[in-house]
Amino acid sequence: MNKPMTVLPATITRRGLMLASAGFASLASTLARAAAPPAATAAAPSGPFNLPALTFADNALDPVISSTTLGFHYGKHHKGYVDNLNKAVAGTPLAGMALEQIITTTYGVADKTGIYNNASQDWNHSFYWKSLRPQGGGAPPAALRQRIDASFGDLDGLRKEILAASASQFGSGWVWLVVDGDKLAVTKTGNADSPLTRGQKPLLTIDVWEHAYYLDYQNRRADYAAAVFDRLLNWGFAADNLAV
Ligand code: MN
Repeated sequence: MNKPMTVLPATITRRGLMLASAGFASLASTLARAAAPPAATAAAPSGPFNLPALTFADNALDPVISSTTLGFHYGKHHKGYVDNLNKAVAGTPLAGMALEQIITTTYGVADKTGIYNNASQDWNHSFYWKSLRPQGGGAPPAALRQRIDASFGDLDGLRKEILAASASQFGSGWVWLVVDGDKLAVTKTGNADSPLTRGQKPLLTIDVWEHAYYLDYQNRRADYAAAVFDRLLNWGFAADNLAV
């Protein structure tokens, strides 16, 4: 619905400008449809939570993450978590809560496991998409780089820790760069879990569920994690999170 125009790819914006005579509302609607992968455009929101718009085209992360993987991961898996969450909270007090509040409220509550899993997976995936950008990787902004150097020695030290965490997470899960007390740290969480329930502030994440990489890398999770670190990580997003 309220998809920001400022984050659309330049090619889409140019196309949109050609349609400007149709009026702003129509233009915005056209742009919003054009920006989303086909798999995610069909359903109108059916509850309080929406699948957030991606800030890049579905082939923009290729070849590190193919458009096929992105189409399934965003348009099917992430959308499924949002749809399941909306169904589960319908008619309950949880429907009026912020996503983060649902996560911390239902964490560890036996009869709320399904709601927790879908809420946390929705949050984790939204955070993951923002942790990636086309032509990412490279050098973090100076303020973040100083914190990385202080905690890991240098960027390569952080890279080694993230790749080790990716390789050693048994089964489905997530690898995170977090602020933990006065230091940066690399952590991993299983299944839907996140640093939000651990008192840590997440800066960025890599999804290491098999659905994140199997179509492109099969069993080579280490190659996926290394390629994401080197070519897709959005250090500006991590720096923004560090600053707030
Ligand atoms: Mn995933």
